[in-house]
Amino acid sequence: MLGNFHGLDHARFMVEALIEAEKAGKRGDRAIGAVIVHQNEIVARGSNQIESADSNLIHAEIDAMNKCASFLRKHARECVIYTTVEPCVMCLSTIVMANIRHVVFATEDRYMNMKPFIQSNPYIAKRIHQYLGGIQEERSIELLKKYSPETAEVILHGHRI
Ligand SMILES: [Zn+2]
Repeated sequence: MLGNFHGLDHARFMVEALIEAEKAGKRGDRAIGAVIVHQNEIVARGSNQIESADSNLIHAEIDAMNKCASFLRKHARECVIYTTVEPCVMCLSTIVMANIRHVVFATEDRYMNMKPFIQSNPYIAKRIHQYLGGIQEERSIELLKKYSPETAEVILHGHRI
């Protein structure tokens, strides 16, 4: 079912996404990063730029996908997107529309709670072949707490405490 995707070193690629997350946190953006991998090589890196670009639309996954949009038109089905936080409703939908079928994330987003969303829509459910969380989760949470404590709170608890 997953073909060559079995052999990927998820932990290693998530470390690369975490490097992007830390860069974002250091410059005042939310500490969330992403990388897109094709045949064991990173083809794009992205990070949250909500503050630095003054746009609610530039999430890490969107940034990474935009950086390799033309590559994705040909090769998306063989790509895996690694993101340090579970994709939100915008990013998951964009991942589907970009034809990326494999999603690996570090920290589950309890606020957005996307799993029931995916399961409830046959179009989306059919197009997400792999949805794997918990990879390098501790390091992702650590970065969120350090740089983006409000985001960390919402993601980890599903609401503001
Ligand atoms: Zn998003």
